[in-house]
Amino acid sequence: MTTHNIGSVNIRCPDCGGDQFIKDGADGDVPPAALAGATCAACGRIVSRDEIEDQVGKIGEVFTNLVGDAIRKALRN
Ligand SMILES: [Zn+2]
Repeated sequence: MTTHNIGSVNIRCPDCGGDQFIKDGADGDVPPAALAGATCAACGRIVSRDEIEDQVGKIGEVFTNLVGDAIRKALRN
């Protein structure tokens, strides 16, 4: 099982390449739009949850491979 910490993953806006996103509803009321994705702080584009997960998935694959390699090397010793 793989977990992703969004805070440490560099998600970029598909439109402007910005990496700052606004996530509403941190405490309490979470509007449906916030659950669906995040808003780019630079251009205001709403990046869908699918787009975010797509990017996180790609980064996660690389990360998982790196960790997998490290574990395999450690087990070999
Ligand atoms: Zn943007």
